[in-house]
Amino acid sequence: MSTLPCLTKIACTIGPACWQQEQIVELAQNGMAVARVNMSHGGPKDHLRIYRDIRKATEHLPWPVAIMADTRGVEIRTGDVVNPIAITKGQQVLFRPSSQHSVQSNDTIIEVGYDNFAEDVREAETILLDNGALSFDVVDIRKDGCVVAKAKQDGSIGSRRHINLPGADINLPSVTELDMEDIARAAEAGVDIVALSFIRRASDIVPVRALLQGRNSRMHLCAKIETRQAVDNLEEILAVVDSVMVARGDLGAEVPFEHLPVIQDRIVRLCRQHGKPVIVATHMLLSMTEHPLPTRAEVTDVAHAAYQRTDCTMLSDETAGGKHPALCLGAMTRILNATEDELRRQALPLDLALRDEADNRASAAVEASQSPEVRAIVVTGRTGATALRISRCRPLVPIVACSEDAIVARHLQMAYGVVPLTMSFEGSFADVTERSIACATEAGVLSAGDRIVIVSDIETAGEPAPSIQLRTA
Ligand code: PEP
Repeated sequence: MSTLPCLTKIACTIGPACWQQEQIVELAQNGMAVARVNMSHGGPKDHLRIYRDIRKATEHLPWPVAIMADTRGVEIRTGDVVNPIAITKGQQVLFRPSSQHSVQSNDTIIEVGYDNFAEDVREAETILLDNGALSFDVVDIRKDGCVVAKAKQDGSIGSRRHINLPGADINLPSVTELDMEDIARAAEAGVDIVALSFIRRASDIVPVRALLQGRNSRMHLCAKIETRQAVDNLEEILAVVDSVMVARGDLGAEVPFEHLPVIQDRIVRLCRQHGKPVIVATHMLLSMTEHPLPTRAEVTDVAHAAYQRTDCTMLSDETAGGKHPALCLGAMTRILNATEDELRRQALPLDLALRDEADNRASAAVEASQSPEVRAIVVTGRTGATALRISRCRPLVPIVACSEDAIVARHLQMAYGVVPLTMSFEGSFADVTERSIACATEAGVLSAGDRIVIVSDIETAGEPAPSIQLRTA
């Protein structure tokens, strides 16, 4: 039996700790709306196997699970080492591009897989490894492309560690050739959403859209906001993508960490204004990779996302590689539910600009749903656009979105409050409305006797007309 999802949805990253069929089913039945596959790990065959396993495990559940493939993106990484390199605070090191392997030094050499490193370091305030676990001050940028730097802490550097250059506009295409190959394979495999790492501007999206159009793929594009440039260019990026992820791991290394909460809230607000779903990601319950209970600060972080009425929160290593994937999802669900109960006790103003007649109808439906006896808004639509407009108004009851199209249903999984269902649209408008109520009841979202708000078309004088009805299931 599946439990009704929270209004703020949950994305779970699928990895070795949870990729058995029964584990995926358990996550899906307990609130996983989006299953994320991080393509930074494993190869094409592994990714295809996981996509197939997720689809197979979730095909008979009352509502679908969307599959998100998350690209590697343009990353600067250190080279392979046999043993981790120990670093002490104040130690001088030489960052040496792999092409300069003949350059020798008395300083410890850290290999970098990027030839333009020295040029880009000029724009950076500091060099960060592993999202800031280890940082270096730049001492000298040399003509041979190597960079001398001084460690600010003790630490150790294993193979292929991720390097951030905060503030630098890396001179590489945001979407790499490898990414394009991964995206093409994901589209072919029927993945629903591709999350694009290290996007910096709207033009980065153009080749990906072209690739998908060329393949007749309807895969949605989610821009990961994890660079300062992407934050600055958010409005233009929002205009060309379907959704956004606040990728706080890298973003927290690229901007001073104290600015992260303000940036997160600004992105969430802007996405809502534009009617584009937004995921808040990374470190939400990180301590639970090891421990069965979250820290108090993590509880507050998840609750904050619910207070902001964020569309979706995300679990990364917590579910992919941690010791307690199911407990993590359970904890996130409990925190979201408790905060949403509190939101229901408050009279929240709409606090949103209405753009046109369709927005006015969505907002009127949400207003009607505020009667205490109303259990849900039921909306029928072919494209999911009306459900998204209602979701943008952030009602505090579920939005049951019935469509004929399984892809539309899966795309709606990221949106606040939406429970997507598929059914046939055959027959009259009245038939479709009756079927949507039956469908929501069968899925366990409604019980007979529940008051509901219906948003659908009705026929008047032989013409379809948009309507809002108050009914009893
Ligand atoms: C992040 O940086 O927060 C993120 C989600 O991306 P990745 O897990 O690919 O580093």
